[in-house]
Amino acid sequence: MSAAFDHRDAGTPESVWRASELGSVLEVAGPGPGDRLLVLAAHPDDETLGAAGLIAASAARGAHVRVIVATDGEASHPNSPTHSPAHLAQLRRAEVRAAMAALDPSIIPVFLGLPDGHVTEHVGTLTRYLAPRLDGCTHLVSPWVEDAHPDHEACARAATAVMENVPEIQHWQFPIWAWHWGEPSDLPWSRLRRIDLSLDDLARKQAALDCHRTQHSPLSAAPGDEAMLADHVLAHFSRRYETFVVAAPNPAPVSDARYFDELYAKAADPWGLADRFYERRKRTLLLAGLPRERFRSAFEPGCATGLLTAALAERCDRVLACDVAEVALRQTAQRLADRPHVTVERGQIPDDWPAQQFDLIVLSEVGYYARDLSVLVDRVRSSLTPDGVLVVCHWRHAAPDHAQTAEAVHSALGGGLHRIVTHVEADFLLDVWSNSPSSVATDTGVLE
Ligand SMILES: [Zn+2]
Repeated sequence: MSAAFDHRDAGTPESVWRASELGSVLEVAGPGPGDRLLVLAAHPDDETLGAAGLIAASAARGAHVRVIVATDGEASHPNSPTHSPAHLAQLRRAEVRAAMAALDPSIIPVFLGLPDGHVTEHVGTLTRYLAPRLDGCTHLVSPWVEDAHPDHEACARAATAVMENVPEIQHWQFPIWAWHWGEPSDLPWSRLRRIDLSLDDLARKQAALDCHRTQHSPLSAAPGDEAMLADHVLAHFSRRYETFVVAAPNPAPVSDARYFDELYAKAADPWGLADRFYERRKRTLLLAGLPRERFRSAFEPGCATGLLTAALAERCDRVLACDVAEVALRQTAQRLADRPHVTVERGQIPDDWPAQQFDLIVLSEVGYYARDLSVLVDRVRSSLTPDGVLVVCHWRHAAPDHAQTAEAVHSALGGGLHRIVTHVEADFLLDVWSNSPSSVATDTGVLE
């Protein structure tokens, strides 16, 4: 990569990116109803190039969207004989307003007026401005720290600094210039996530892009007034998806059974599974999502203290429950001592995966510890019967011991299966998938 890229260079052709694996990196669900998305742009047009599709899709799903633009982009044509920086600033603010109106009329962008090209000198100001505005925010989107533009990097650094106090907010960063100067090997592939855009999202993004006339068209025929965004650069922003870089996954301590044993040593029920209304309600929702009254054989890795195991035991001929923590296993074994059809074993997934077939696999609050999701996906697939049902349920907020986000776990596990239930809340995701395409009404004779 080169920090000294030139927008006039030929750059990396879009065909190179289309031939890469970009279109198949993990897909994530964007902000939904009740979520609050804050988009930080360094210059007028970053918000559109990097995140217009996400903004349109989020607003359409009922998320609240705010857009903050750090500079007015007044330095885009320093040698223009026709447009002063002040005039450009005025035009570019108007372009962002029009672009955001094209995405959703409720979005009124806020401009901070920091000096274009000098955001690096104002990271502290930007951080102090952002901090109180993250209250209630669920998603923060900024330029990518390695985009090789100093203003983009400065915005990313301010966003990262402010996130230190609110780790539960998801921080996604969008590359812009990296598509131009970079090559596939320059990207942090394990941290890339994808948002697929509907045709409507894409049309809105295109309409928003059209608004940035000072950037995609010459200001005049005079030298110094050339377009900034040539067609070969714009080609990177017409994809059916947008790509974001997420924060580095935390190292998961799963391989260390001691970690969980210590958790249980501090508290017999570290997550309040028995006492918290939140946990009881979530279990009820999970059980209500099971598409059949009876199952032949269930597997529940990460069974913790066995509360869900006990409920599954009522509906399954056989249950295999496992956990890595000794204390948890003892509690589960005690709780289920009078249910001989329940087996409790010590084991850690995905390494200790049983060599059996199950028509029900329940992964509740366990997938985000997996360092390598593809191994977990393979194990689940290979042990699910042709009529098998997979139930997956995970906390959506960040936690220091999670190697994966709930979104990443669910999107990896659901691929190729038939959806029965999707339940999305601010706090957790619940998905029920089946190997078979039929519905509950069909299976139970309600529908012929
Ligand atoms: Zn920019």
